[in-house]
Amino acid sequence: MQKMSGQISICCLDLEGVLVPEIWISVAEKTRIKELRLTTRDVPDYHVLMRRRISVLREHRIKLAVIQKVITGMKPLPGASAFLNKLRSLRQVIVLSDTYYEFAMPLMKKLGWPSLFCNRLETDREGYLARYHLRQENGKEKAVKALKRIGFRVQAAGDSYNDIEMLKAADEGILFRPPVRIVSEFPQFSVTRTYKELLKKLV
Ligand SMILES: [Mg+2]
Repeated sequence: MQKMSGQISICCLDLEGVLVPEIWISVAEKTRIKELRLTTRDVPDYHVLMRRRISVLREHRIKLAVIQKVITGMKPLPGASAFLNKLRSLRQVIVLSDTYYEFAMPLMKKLGWPSLFCNRLETDREGYLARYHLRQENGKEKAVKALKRIGFRVQAAGDSYNDIEMLKAADEGILFRPPVRIVSEFPQFSVTRTYKELLKKLV
């Protein structure tokens, strides 16, 4: 049942921390490079964070293929596939992520290929990560605004700083397993901790 008559709801979900583990943390664990553990939860400025990651990888001579191998070994969070399948049977769902297609595809396969709007990576001739291409600045927020413009009621869920603008732009913003810091900074968003709670909020 739709909550508002006449308007169709669409759900925008963050990927890392909501459906799959943090990709960079998994890479940090496998490569044992501590600096790669930093995420947007720790460094809110995405460009600062990405520039740091690229230089750290080069310093440690880690090529894109190595990262892709680590990601291929990752699994969605426990219960994520079942949650997503159920949600997709009831709502249109788009995964909005700041990650990269070069990283995400093995995980998308495990999630049954949901729609994913994200970014692209570029490597140099040796296979090192050289550049990242954001489709646009604040891509998550702009996707939500665009969906609203074409008549959808947008519900968005995310866990981190890079989701805040998306949650603000949505008709309904929901936090999923956020850090304490974010909960106290943004009390306007409801907080969910399980897929059952999140599903209940979304449908
Ligand atoms: Mg996240």
